[in-house]
Amino acid sequence: MQPLRKRCLVTGGAGFLGSHLCERLLARGDDVLCVDNFFTGARDNVIHLLDNPHFELLRHDVTFPLYVEVDEIYNLACPASPVHYQFDPVQTTKTSVHGAINMLGLAKRVRAKILQASTSEVYGDPQVHPQEESYWGHVNPIGARSCYDEGKRCAETLFFDYYRQHDLRIKVARIFNTYGPRMHPNDGRVVSNFIVQALAGEPITLYGDGEQTRSFCYVDDLVDGLIALMDSPDAVTGPINLGNPREFSIRELAEQVLALTGSSSKLVFRPLPEDDPRQRQPDITRAREQLGWEPTTALKNGLERTVDYFASLGRAS
Ligand code: NAD
Ligand code: UDP
Repeated sequence: MQPLRKRCLVTGGAGFLGSHLCERLLARGDDVLCVDNFFTGARDNVIHLLDNPHFELLRHDVTFPLYVEVDEIYNLACPASPVHYQFDPVQTTKTSVHGAINMLGLAKRVRAKILQASTSEVYGDPQVHPQEESYWGHVNPIGARSCYDEGKRCAETLFFDYYRQHDLRIKVARIFNTYGPRMHPNDGRVVSNFIVQALAGEPITLYGDGEQTRSFCYVDDLVDGLIALMDSPDAVTGPINLGNPREFSIRELAEQVLALTGSSSKLVFRPLPEDDPRQRQPDITRAREQLGWEPTTALKNGLERTVDYFASLGRAS
C-alpha cells in the first residue's frame, strides 16, 4: 500500500523562509497547506506552486484560531525584519504569542507535531559568545526590539509548557540571520539592503561603525535544518540553534557585496538602531550532534545567488 502523504501546515508560508520550505516539502512528497496574512509575504512568492494539486494557500491571520486537519505544523508566521516588526509592535507580539497559542491548540487537538521558528534574538545583545542554547540571554524587555524578542521568548515558554503539560511533540529552532532569494527588496535587512543599494549604485548604509557582527546562513541550508529538526526523534525538542557559525562584520559584508556586484557605491555611516546586538554567532554543536546538520554554503556562493535574484527583479521591472 502507498504510504499516506504527510499533511504539513506552514504558517507564514508566503514569506521568505516559508516559501522555500513549502517548495521543499512538496518536492519530497508532502501535502502543504500554506497559511499567511500577507503582511510581509506575498502570493508571488508561492505563485509557482498554485498549480500543484498538493499545495493549498489560505489567507488567514494566526492571531485567530484555525481549524484544519494536519500532521505537522511549521509555525513561521511573524515579520522578521526589524523595520517590519517595529511597524506595528503590538501586532508583532500578538502574532508571536496568540499565534503560538492558536497553533499549539491546533496541534493539541489533532495531535500534530509542531515546530516553532524562534530566533537568535532570544539571546538579545549577548554577553556570551558564541551563543549556545543554554545561555538565557540579555534582552531589554521594554525597548524597540522587545515586541519581537520577548514575543519569541514567550512563544518558546508556551511551547515548553505545552510539552510538559500536554505531552505535545514540540521542536524549537533558534534561527540566526538567514538570507537568499525572495527576501523582500524593501524589508530593511542588511543583506537585501546592501545588494539592492549596490545594484542601484546608491550608497551602502552602514549602521554604527559597521564593526558589529552577524553570521549569515543561506536559505537552502536553513530549510535543510528545519526539516531535519522536524524529522528528528521526539526526544529532540530543542531549543536548537540553526545558523552558519562563520561570523562577519557588517563592514566585511558590505565589501563582499561590492566585490560581487562590481558596484562603485560608496559606504556611508548612519546611526546604530536602538539595542542593535554587537555580535552574534551560533554555537551549532547541538545541531551537529542531534541532527547531523551543518550549513554547507559559503557566504560568497550564497551572495552570488542572491545578487542574481535581485538583479533579475530589476530586469523584470
Ligand atoms: P518574512 O517576513 O518574509 O515571513 C513572515 C511571514 O509571516 C510573511 O509571509 C508574513 O506575511 C506572515 N505573517 C506575519 N504575521 C502573520 C500573521 N499574524 N498571520 C499569518 N501570517 C503572518 O520573514 P522570514 O525571514 O521568512 O521569517 C520567517 C520566520 O522565521 C519568522 O517567524 C521569523 O521570526 C523567523 N526567523 C527568521 C530569521 C531570518 O533571518 N530570516 C531569523 C530568525 C528567525
Ligand atoms: N545594518 C546596516 N545597514 C543596513 C541594514 C542593517 O548596517 O542597511 C546592520 C544592523 O544595524 C545590524 C546588522 O546590519 O547590526 C543586521 O541587521 P538586520 O536588520 O539584517 O538583522 P538583525 O540581526 O539586526 O535582526
